[in-house]
Amino acid sequence: MSTNKVVITEAVNQQLLCTLQELKFTKLAVLVDENTLINCYPLIKESLPDHCIIEIKSGEKFKTIETCNHIWGRLTDEAFDRKSLMLNLGGGVIGDMGGFAARTFKRGIKFINIPTTLLAQVDASIGGKLGIDFEGLKNHIGLFSDPDKVIIDPIFLESLPHEELISGFAEVIKHNLIADESHWEELKTQKLSDLNWLDVIKHSVAIKSRVVASDPFETGNRKTLNFGHTIGHAVESFKMIINKRILHGEAVALGMISESYLSYKKGLLSSKELKSIENYIDSVFTRIKIEPKEINKILDLMGQDKKNRGNRILAALLEKIGSAKWDVELTRDEVRSSLLYYSSYT
Ligand code: NAD
Repeated sequence: MSTNKVVITEAVNQQLLCTLQELKFTKLAVLVDENTLINCYPLIKESLPDHCIIEIKSGEKFKTIETCNHIWGRLTDEAFDRKSLMLNLGGGVIGDMGGFAARTFKRGIKFINIPTTLLAQVDASIGGKLGIDFEGLKNHIGLFSDPDKVIIDPIFLESLPHEELISGFAEVIKHNLIADESHWEELKTQKLSDLNWLDVIKHSVAIKSRVVASDPFETGNRKTLNFGHTIGHAVESFKMIINKRILHGEAVALGMISESYLSYKKGLLSSKELKSIENYIDSVFTRIKIEPKEINKILDLMGQDKKNRGNRILAALLEKIGSAKWDVELTRDEVRSSLLYYSSYT
C-alpha cells in the first residue's frame, strides 16, 4: 500500500474532505456499529455529503456472512452502483468486514477506513487483509486488498474503553520488540498515561507498513508480525471455548512472554532481555491464569493454527530485541514449558 494512502492526522475532518474530493463517487455509505455511531460518527458528520448509514451490531460474533448479507442488502436497496463509496468507521471488525463487503459488491466498490480503536489504527487498517469469520473460524473467508484511503486520528481513542486501548497496545509493544530496539528502550520508561498517541501510532504504522511492503502476501518476513500470536491465539481460542473471554491484547501479551522465553531457551535472547520484556509487559497487563491441566487442550488448538505447515508448530521468535525470525519450529514440550514458565508468575 502506498504510504500516501495512509494519513495520520489530528485533523480528521480536513483530511476527510480532501479524500472525498479526490475519490470520485456517486453515493456514499457509512458503516458503523452502535458504539461508533454514538461516539465517532458525530465527530465527522459535518464533513459528509449526502450519505446513508449502515449500522451493524458490534463484536466479533457479528463478523459473519449474515452481517455482510445485511450490508449488501442495504447497498442494493439504496441503488448503489459500481462508482459508490463505503466509509468504514470503527474498529478492526468494521474495517475487515466493511472492506470485504465493499470489494465484493458488484465486483468491488471503493472504500476508505477511519479506524477508531488503537488495534485498528496500528494494525488492522494496514496490510490489506479483509475478511469475515466462518463457522467459528477466524478470518476464514477473505482477500487481500488495500483500502483506497486510511485516515487515522487519535481523537477517536478518547471514547475508547480502557480495556480496548490496552488490547491494541499489545500490538504496539510487539512492533517495537520485532523491529526497533532503541524505541523499545524509550517506550519501556514511559507510563501509558504519558504516551503521545499520535507519535505511538505513527511509529507503529511505519513499522507495519514497512514489513508488509516487503512481503505483502506473508510468505516470509511478514510472518514476524505473528510474534506473540502463535501461543497467544491458541490461549485466546481455548478461553473462548470455555466461555472465559480474555482480551486479544492480553492473549498477545501472554504469547509475547511465552515466546520470548522460548527465544531465550533457544539461545537467541539474553536473560536480561527476557526480564526486561516481562517486566514491561507485566506493568501493563495482568497475567492470565492457566491451569496445568488446560495446557494439553491449548496445545491441541495450536496444532490447528493456519500459520502451521503439516503437523509442525511454527512461530516467530525474537533473535534479539528489535529483530525477529520466522518459521521457527516448536515442539509441544517446548510450548508446554513456556506456558508453565509464564504461569509460575501468576
Ligand atoms: P472491534 O472492532 O470489535 O472494536 C472493539 C469495541 O470497541 C467494539 O465494541 C466497538 O464498537 C468499540 N469501539 C470502536 N471504536 C470505538 C470508539 N472510538 N469509542 C468507543 N467504542 C469504540 O475490535 P478491534 O479490537 O478494533 O478489532 C478486532 C478485529 O480486528 C478482529 O476481528 C481481528 O480479526 C481484526 N484484525 C485484523 C487485522 C488485519 O490485518 N486485517 C489485524 C489485527 C486484527
